[in-house]
Amino acid sequence: MTTRRQFLAAAGSCAVHVAIALADGTRATRSLYAAVPRGPVAAREPWGRIERLAEGAWALISTPLAGGKDAMRTFSNGGIIAGRDGVLVVEGFASEEGAAWLAGQARELTGRAPDWVVLTHYHGDHSTGLSGYEAARPLYLTTEVTREELERRIADRGELSPAAAVLAGGRARLVDSAETTLDLGGRRVRVVPRSGHTRSDLAIVLEDPRLVWCGDLVWNGLFPNYVDATPSDLSRHVRALLDEPADHWVPGHGSLADRAAVVSYLELLDDVEAAARKAVEAGIPAADAARGYRPPAELGEWVLFGDRYYAVALGAWERELQR
Ligand SMILES: [Zn+2]
Repeated sequence: MTTRRQFLAAAGSCAVHVAIALADGTRATRSLYAAVPRGPVAAREPWGRIERLAEGAWALISTPLAGGKDAMRTFSNGGIIAGRDGVLVVEGFASEEGAAWLAGQARELTGRAPDWVVLTHYHGDHSTGLSGYEAARPLYLTTEVTREELERRIADRGELSPAAAVLAGGRARLVDSAETTLDLGGRRVRVVPRSGHTRSDLAIVLEDPRLVWCGDLVWNGLFPNYVDATPSDLSRHVRALLDEPADHWVPGHGSLADRAAVVSYLELLDDVEAAARKAVEAGIPAADAARGYRPPAELGEWVLFGDRYYAVALGAWERELQR
């Protein structure tokens, strides 16, 4: 069971308002994760489902809006990628139980425990449960910045993070500005440094089958959280993810995305930028401009988890434009 301590750690994260939405979710928020899975469902639990995307490739689509005490066990999306000689899993999730569960699923589906764990960024709903993989003694792949941020947050809050302790150990491998290719045996996995959602994000790209794990650079059906974003980098790097020759993109939150869904998301980011530029040029503070902002109806419904999300987004752009 996800403990209160773990939940509070995750609550410092990009998806904290998911929990708040549980109390008063609209019909749209409740149906958000109920989209028809793209592939056969290999497992379904109160906190999420594992969709088979291709031979040796599965997405975990977390369903924190499902309600119930275990709904937030994994919280963010993730995945399992298997080759002949190795298995890689994506994300550390919001609880150790969540990560341990995914490790068990990897063993069941592939016959191997995870050899590699990729942590896309430091937010608690992606990282808090990292130590749940420790029994399998995998290698952890993340960035120097992500490790530093986790350590800095411990210093700021005076609390121990199991994820920081894991990454301080001898099994962390740090990606710098160059991408890293892992050969899992007949399956090449590119781990690509990106940024924008935070100042250090990782994407995982498979070329056969053609799949991209986006970390939190892409959210599907949810208005993104700009709390730690550099907005121009976010737009630029989402465009780069869209340039990958992929059929499906696994977002950080929300259902599996096809090309059209990522295009809509990018149009939403462009619309936020246009609104922010207009406000700055007119001398209107972001907080005021946010009160009148709504995404264009033609882009469909974007679930908003908190009252302040538009203000956070326009504020991030305001800071960048006034630098
Ligand atoms: Zn995040």
